Amino acid sequence: MNESTIRAVVQEVLNEIGKGAPSASASTPPPRVNGSPNGIPVMSAGAARPAGASSYGPVSGDWGVFDSVDEAVAAAKHAFNQLRGRPIADRAKVVSIVKEMCEARAEEWGRKELEETKIGRLDHKIEKLQIIKLVPGTEWLKSDCFSGDNGLSVEEYAPFGVIGGITPVTHSLPTLAGNVINMIAAGNTVCFNPHPSGAGIACEGVQAFNKAIAEAIGLENLITIIGTPTIESAGAIFNHRDVRMLCVTGGPGVARAALQARKKAVVAGPGNPPVVVDETADIENAAKSIVAGGAYDNNLLCIGEKEVFAVNDIFDSLMDAMSRHGGYRLNTQQVEALTKTAFAPPKEPGGHHQLNRDMIGKDASVLAEMIGVKVPAGTELLYGETDTSNPFVPEEQMMPFVPIVRARDAQQAIELAYEFEHGFGHTAIIHSRNVHNMTVMGKLMDTTLYVKNGPCMAGLGLGGEGYLSFSVATPTGEGVTNPLTFTRSRRCVMVDELRVV
Ligand code: NAD
Repeated sequence: MNESTIRAVVQEVLNEIGKGAPSASASTPPPRVNGSPNGIPVMSAGAARPAGASSYGPVSGDWGVFDSVDEAVAAAKHAFNQLRGRPIADRAKVVSIVKEMCEARAEEWGRKELEETKIGRLDHKIEKLQIIKLVPGTEWLKSDCFSGDNGLSVEEYAPFGVIGGITPVTHSLPTLAGNVINMIAAGNTVCFNPHPSGAGIACEGVQAFNKAIAEAIGLENLITIIGTPTIESAGAIFNHRDVRMLCVTGGPGVARAALQARKKAVVAGPGNPPVVVDETADIENAAKSIVAGGAYDNNLLCIGEKEVFAVNDIFDSLMDAMSRHGGYRLNTQQVEALTKTAFAPPKEPGGHHQLNRDMIGKDASVLAEMIGVKVPAGTELLYGETDTSNPFVPEEQMMPFVPIVRARDAQQAIELAYEFEHGFGHTAIIHSRNVHNMTVMGKLMDTTLYVKNGPCMAGLGLGGEGYLSFSVATPTGEGVTNPLTFTRSRRCVMVDELRVV
């Protein structure tokens, strides 16, 4: 390599990490792209930037909201190149900003998310934002070191670049905020395609985060988002050459699409979590836990209790106990009526029942009213005895009715749990004091989360040990996502020298 070639390479690297002379495109702010996603107010094109905010980069949206995938990715790529030149302390500031804003504005944003999506419960929408502070940030980053006769090697966890994020309607802003914390802590930037029915609140969050980040560290567009998302814009993100990896949180369709994408994908897919209650269980605790988990945000959680297999010996006492903890028991005719309202028959023999999506995430009292039942105030969850032919058992209903199926014994209950989890490998729950049953079920289910003697939320550090994420990667195996999920391992080797012993 001659001297001028080397100089050119060095200049390119310096430019990349934001230390070189700004390029022509970076120094000249281009026309701004305006978007008004779902009618939410957005900053006007000429809105003032905070003092010290960075150059706009190749394109500029409304504080991270873009109409076009190309522009959103280009802005996130520019932001990534700037972030690379910054200390980890700046990433830590971003993490703090997102956590603090989610807590401070939980009530306002929770209310807005409910108003927009019309699914779930206000108290839990608020709580899901308040607990964002439990998502791990930069403290999770680590280095590994190998030292020996041949010298010293350090392995560090480096960012990928721009990540494509797909978020669900069930927890639009909480998923986005949790992803942002993990991804930016690891040094990445992100371009989101939110669920269209939760895009307004997602965009509002992105704008608020970006403004506060620009004020604190002078960088814009660490988070970008498509204001009017479509399946096509999701596809464009999947296929964009500057998107280095994907993190997709959603149901079977998008999980399949992401698994077929030709780039690294972290896929947080659907679940249908079964619960086994055996004859040794603490029945009061089991009943309380099933109601708490199954009723959480009206059963929108992917980890939420969706069907219960209870052994015959304790079946009746479990049914009684659930009504003492906020459950309302439907009789056989009422269960039948609710089933007919909630599901249309499969379109072809052996196919899936068609879920009435208008019932997803509605309150228990609303579901009950639909079948002419008035439930007492404070009812959180409807439940009733069914057999396995009832579509509430195989389908991920995402509404506060949980079918309870009678099993002959623990062995049969565990086998049914395995059958109706469908191999998603997502979440399974057991209530038991019999370690053998716990072990048999754990081995057979092989799920990412396996909770014993608690509600599903215990699996995400809420009343159990561990940390929180709203993206639990199931088919791709990363588990409960954290900053290291979004890193590449790099080894740096010094031969022979540097050891001091
Ligand atoms: P959904 O699959 O309808 O939508 C999820 C996202 O994918 C949305 O942004 C949507 O616009 C997009 N999308 C849908 N089909 C697509 C396709 N073919 N190509 C590209 N993008 C597509 O799911 P939802 O109703 O928003 O959320 C509920 C589902 O998500 C449930 O199945 C639940 O179990 C799952 N979920 C999983 C986790 C997890 O951590 N594993 C967390 C939350 C939700």
